[in-house]
Amino acid sequence: MFDAIDPKTEDLKGKLTAFMAAHVYPNEKQLLDEGRAEGRWTHTPLMRDLQAKARAQGLWNLFYNHGPEGQGLSNYQYTHLCVVLGRSLAAPEIFNCNAPDVGNMEILATYGTDAQKARWLKPLLAGDIRSCFAMTEPAVASSDATNIETRIERDGDDYIVSGRKWWTTGAMAEACKVAIVMGKSDSAAPRHQQQSMILIPMDAPGVRVERPLSVYGFQHPPLGHAEVVFEGVRVPAGNVLLGDGRGFEIAQGRLGPGRIHHCMRFIGLAERAIEEMCARAQDRAAFGSQLAAMGGVRQVIGQCRTELEAARLMTLKAAWAMDRHGNKAARDEIAMAKIFVPTVTGQIIDRAIQIHGGAGLSEDFFLAMAFAETRFLRIGDGPDEVHREALARAELKRATARTEELST
Ligand SMILES: Cc1cc2nc3c(=O)[nH]c(=O)nc-3n(C[C@H](O)[C@H](O)[C@H](O)COP(=O)(O)OP(=O)(O)OC[C@H]3O[C@@H](n4cnc5c(N)ncnc54)[C@H](O)[C@@H]3O)c2cc1C
Repeated sequence: MFDAIDPKTEDLKGKLTAFMAAHVYPNEKQLLDEGRAEGRWTHTPLMRDLQAKARAQGLWNLFYNHGPEGQGLSNYQYTHLCVVLGRSLAAPEIFNCNAPDVGNMEILATYGTDAQKARWLKPLLAGDIRSCFAMTEPAVASSDATNIETRIERDGDDYIVSGRKWWTTGAMAEACKVAIVMGKSDSAAPRHQQQSMILIPMDAPGVRVERPLSVYGFQHPPLGHAEVVFEGVRVPAGNVLLGDGRGFEIAQGRLGPGRIHHCMRFIGLAERAIEEMCARAQDRAAFGSQLAAMGGVRQVIGQCRTELEAARLMTLKAAWAMDRHGNKAARDEIAMAKIFVPTVTGQIIDRAIQIHGGAGLSEDFFLAMAFAETRFLRIGDGPDEVHREALARAELKRATARTEELST
């Protein structure tokens, strides 16, 4: 059932696969290396050139289904494409399908006013600007977003925003022109209605990008992850998204698709890791035997394929459930995939590193960076424990309902 793919998706998948072979893999190293050179927070001419090529071929905004700027695909259809572009860490941005811009575009398309869409969504969909999403704060445990301390205070026709954020992905990029900031606007309101989200231009007085953060030493240029300070930043009241106190509602809406997109990309990354693991094992010999002929190595390969198939099916099921029942009703499927897929794909990449020996740890291969990427997602978009807790809550609620039903 979960292999069924319609002609339109099949066609796009064929084009995307060909594009990856012709333009992405041959340029991957240069794309990732160039970013580290001088001026690393800029989009290089090579990236811009590949984006233009992708756009010309209709391989642009593949995730987007709110208007003619995208391909109008369902989550299920998009999964089949996202696993292809997920094979290279350099690829998502070439197709304007990268985090956090995808999530931010979803927010603007779903909750933005016409004026907000015209100012920010339009250039984001065109790839002319980048954006960031600032929720996490260094001073508080941000996996519980009710802890957030950034203040969003009304002052006449404006809001004044003050707070310190970190791990704000995308904020290092020179092209990053807008932040969606989550903060507290009413501490007296019910717990999940105290927070709002507000659009802040990155060049507004009082916005200060303080430093880049790295993940196992990788700084992920040109977008990067930053510590950002908002010091008495004044913006018009019209910059609030959806309305005062509705930040949590937006966060839930944003994170569902965002989480599953990460899972889709990781399936592609792990698929490539298995391919390279097999190629390496067939190419090298030790102690008089090809690595691929050794029982221990063969067990690893078999285990990787088994786990990846489970991860793939969970991701497809979650995407299908989102299409069929809506993001909210699919929250358990999304949570299960979000827990399982990064762990399993991280293990697969780790085993591929082991089979590559020292080479696997070097940056001559994509594996080290891929490992860092999968490791981050066991914390990013909510740590695994928080998702398990939500699943347990739902499970126990069902158990209580069953018991009550039996006793009546
Ligand atoms: C590479 C990267 C990119 C990121 N990008 C962004 C971004 O663009 N925007 C943004 O706002 N944030 C971003 N984040 C931040 C990320 O979402 C947070 O780190 C995450 O939500 C956890 O918050 P915290 O770091 O404050 O951990 P804390 O809240 O301090 O939690 C620490 C640990 O406590 C444990 N824990 C927490 N709750 C429970 C529980 N209920 N049961 C058991 N154990 C629990 C978990 O082990 C958890 O990892 C990014 C993070 C990384 C690493």
